[in-house]
Amino acid sequence: METEKIVEAMRECVGATDVVGNAVEMAHHLIDWRKRHSGVAACVVFPRSVEQVSRVLAFCNANGIKVFPQGGNTSVCGGSVPDANGSSILLNLAKMNRIVELNAADNSVTVEAGCILADIQQAALDADRMFPLTLGAEGSCQIGGNISTNAGGTNVVRFGNTRDLVLGLQVVLADGRIWNGLRTLRKNNSGYDLRNLFVGAEGTLGIVTAASLKLYPRPCAKATTMLGFHDVRAAVTEGVKLQARFPSELVGLEVISRSEFEISLKHAAKTRNPFEKTPEWVVLVELAATSGSSEALTDQLTDYLRGSFEEGTIQDAVVASTEQQRADLWKIRHSVTESNMKEGMGLTHDIAVPTYRIPDFVEQAGEALARHYPDTVPVVVGHMGDGNLHYIVMFSHEHWARISDKPRTQLELSHLLYDIAAGMGGTFSAEHGIGALHVPEMSKYKDPVEVALMQSIKNLLDPLDTMNPRRVLPK
Ligand SMILES: Cc1cc2nc3c(=O)[nH]c(=O)nc-3n(C[C@H](O)[C@H](O)[C@H](O)COP(=O)(O)OP(=O)(O)OC[C@H]3O[C@@H](n4cnc5c(N)ncnc54)[C@H](O)[C@@H]3O)c2cc1C
Repeated sequence: METEKIVEAMRECVGATDVVGNAVEMAHHLIDWRKRHSGVAACVVFPRSVEQVSRVLAFCNANGIKVFPQGGNTSVCGGSVPDANGSSILLNLAKMNRIVELNAADNSVTVEAGCILADIQQAALDADRMFPLTLGAEGSCQIGGNISTNAGGTNVVRFGNTRDLVLGLQVVLADGRIWNGLRTLRKNNSGYDLRNLFVGAEGTLGIVTAASLKLYPRPCAKATTMLGFHDVRAAVTEGVKLQARFPSELVGLEVISRSEFEISLKHAAKTRNPFEKTPEWVVLVELAATSGSSEALTDQLTDYLRGSFEEGTIQDAVVASTEQQRADLWKIRHSVTESNMKEGMGLTHDIAVPTYRIPDFVEQAGEALARHYPDTVPVVVGHMGDGNLHYIVMFSHEHWARISDKPRTQLELSHLLYDIAAGMGGTFSAEHGIGALHVPEMSKYKDPVEVALMQSIKNLLDPLDTMNPRRVLPK
């Protein structure tokens, strides 16, 4: 169908003001946050209700128009922008951003899919509750995007991934049918679990239009420390011990290599090195509790750390004694993505292995890099408690500019690292998803029966391949 006709049809579905078809206004929707993936579309459509989404999908499905769903466009694997075809539409949920109902007694909140994550967190706090999903992009990403990528973040060690926080969903299917699975029940064994099919489906099976989410009591006490270690093995050993000592209080356990730590301090404004001598590995620890005071929790943590100091596992430690100090320590952690972009071309590998294998992975990956890519620097930041490392291979901007076949270099390098992770029972995509970037790895690393089953589900729910084509599934 011609572009003009598509735009006209979309205006009939959602109203003229909620369809953007001019190049200037569309531009920032067509390129991803890190400016690595871009595409073309006939228009960007901003529905305001589930009925409008239904109308749009029914029309597109019946007329062979592909639909690329978009949330906050913070995907780091090329999942949030359209392909190069140009005769598709981009469906952005930004105008469906209402908090529909927050029920503190039920510990639940029901929201439209375009709600910004930070707004949901704030609404929960205002009601003396907490929505525990937290990640660097929380000021921009939408809950529909979080659900569709099953986002992880820094609280997974205690509260699980997004999947563990979703109680119910409303979804519009490719043919326009609306599935109303919005409920806040904690138990419901009445047939197949459709909800979990759409969590992590990256928009390939339908559009998530609303969700009911779990809330938790708001913590009143926090304790935060940054620990320094001589090597990654000592860091992981200490992390495992902390998990055993504070099983209900430990909410954050982040690991940072010296190279990443220094990049963050170099590029992020208003950060300063809390250590006198920068350690080789840094672990950021956060405890939270719903009773007692921050002072008492911090005392418990420092008492415990004293023992580890005496044993010699910890090289250095900085304990936050004010809210500002706590924020300053987290600022270093949360600034890594933007700082890495300034430092050079960082190729990110979002791997996970069983936590106890992290030191082996770091060692083997470091050796492989030194052998095959000696002019690069390994830069590591990760959610240690989940066995999830962002293993970034940093090329200087000049070095990257000199590489003639960039896609090939990227593929060979990533397979070198993914082979090591796979050999340890790990994965090539822990929390970022597949998007367009990791489709080749699906055939190489996933069980063929698993991929075939996924394809059957896709064929059942979206037989005409209307939704997010060429994402997630290999041909
Ligand atoms: C600074 C920074 C830090 C980050 N930290 C983390 C982290 O710690 N953990 C983590 O897991 N991720 C992280 N990410 C990645 C990213 O923020 C997450 O993947 C996030 O969940 C994407 O949400 P979004 O709204 O931006 O979705 P988008 O990027 O717009 O879309 C992501 C995918 O979901 C689909 N989609 C979006 N909305 C819908 C919908 N309503 N229905 C159906 N499909 C939809 C899109 O088609 C696409 O496939 C980070 C990104 C940045 C830039």
